[in-house]
Amino acid sequence: MQRINHFINGQPKAPESSAYFDSLDPATSRPHAHVPDGDERDVEAAVAAAERAFPSWSQTPAAERSRILLKIADLIDADLEPLARAESADAGKPLGLARSLDIPRAAANFRFFATAILHFASEAHATDDQAINYTLRDPRGVCGLIAPWNLPLYLLTWKIAPALACGNTAVAKPSELTPLTASMLGDIATRAGLPPGVLNIVHGLGHKVGAAIAAHPRVSTISFTGGTITGAKIAAAGAPLFKKVSLELGGKNPTIVFADADMAQAIPNTLRAAFANQGEICLCGSRIFVEKSAYPRFVEQFVAAAKALRIGDPLDPATDQGALISAQHREKVESYVELARKDGGKILTGGGRPTKVPERCRDGFFFEPTVITDLPSNCRVLREEIFGPVVTITPFADEAEAIALANSTDYGLAASLWTADLSRGHRLARRIHSGTIWVNCWMLRDLRVPFGGMKQSGVGREGGLEALRFFTEPKNVCVKY
Ligand code: NAD
Repeated sequence: MQRINHFINGQPKAPESSAYFDSLDPATSRPHAHVPDGDERDVEAAVAAAERAFPSWSQTPAAERSRILLKIADLIDADLEPLARAESADAGKPLGLARSLDIPRAAANFRFFATAILHFASEAHATDDQAINYTLRDPRGVCGLIAPWNLPLYLLTWKIAPALACGNTAVAKPSELTPLTASMLGDIATRAGLPPGVLNIVHGLGHKVGAAIAAHPRVSTISFTGGTITGAKIAAAGAPLFKKVSLELGGKNPTIVFADADMAQAIPNTLRAAFANQGEICLCGSRIFVEKSAYPRFVEQFVAAAKALRIGDPLDPATDQGALISAQHREKVESYVELARKDGGKILTGGGRPTKVPERCRDGFFFEPTVITDLPSNCRVLREEIFGPVVTITPFADEAEAIALANSTDYGLAASLWTADLSRGHRLARRIHSGTIWVNCWMLRDLRVPFGGMKQSGVGREGGLEALRFFTEPKNVCVKY
């Protein structure tokens, strides 16, 4: 079993506590790594290293920062296989998904921001005939970057890449449940020639390491992706210190299917939206609303497609559904299925632990893709984030009802609409309260677009110029003629 360490000032570093905890492979429930049980002393060392590295890194020409970040992207590509295997073993996700989505996207994040910084421009404002104003955008200093377990390297690098491209230094924290690829990234950064201290990675539990980063007075900027309850704690820790905070939080995303939709597209994509990564993607469409006239046909075909999904060993190329992240998370998912049963929901498929999994995965945290109908629209199962392979299907009568149902949660991260009527698509896109609306697609990502949520799905936007603006401090200079 491997032992990983923090990555501080360009070096692997044991935790001050000397304590390690086990990280489990969710597909087998067996420990596969020892992870540093970090605390505020490790965070302090990482912040100090990041502070020391900041003057030089922030003054390094953008072209040179870009060159190093591009090199990191190339090395991620070169290490695709070991990184994908580590991600799959840590998160329980199908190896094929880690190979095709998680790791390539981590490389793409570095490539995207390495080149974006070369084109980043600031504004100028001519004030009549009196003066010219121009805006300087300087890096903000030490950034705290905290990521969840569902897309571990993908989401951590979505923060690291823009922070470093802008000339900041970073203290990054992966989820304690999925630390492996972050620890491999430290080695990649060194091989790419990233100066010591520019990127520091501290492992450990959220309430120790995450909380210490969020509350650290010399970490001016926090970018967090994770649950809404944790987001509220980070906002509360940052508020009295006036930190700049970006929060990407939970979702309970609607998928709306009109009767005129191209069902040959709508059904497989709605299925993907429901169950990709075992439903453990913040963007997953876990509430499906279908126009009444198409409802029986949609339900029949969707359930048949869900039944055909293969649950199994994440290492098997034929596997569609891997394991959930932990025993505790599976219990949470199960509790919502139980609640659905109590509320009169009909479980059309799934609803339990699979009985047939390969011997190696006998004790893994698997759960069947589950489709539930006949639930009242205000019940908890339709309003709260489950974050697992559980979807509800509900009929609607008309556009007004579809909009009301879509907006009936406290979340507002993403929505997808399926219709042949593009005017209707535009109309609904205006009225649905969420940060992203996909029309006739799902999770079609362009890294330039603003990404983030409304309501309890978060504050601020990531992606493209939004990220470059977030990780810089605008300063206006007014020069009188
Ligand atoms: P989580 O909030 O439990 O943990 C996220 C990270 O925060 C982890 O690194 C954790 O160690 C750390 N953390 C925990 N407590 C902390 C504290 N008190 N202070 C500082 N850091 C702390 O979330 P999770 O279970 O890892 O991830 C699942 C959640 O993430 C879901 O709600 C999902 O919707 C959300 N998510 C959102 C997006 C998005 O872009 N909006 C993307 C992926 C996941």
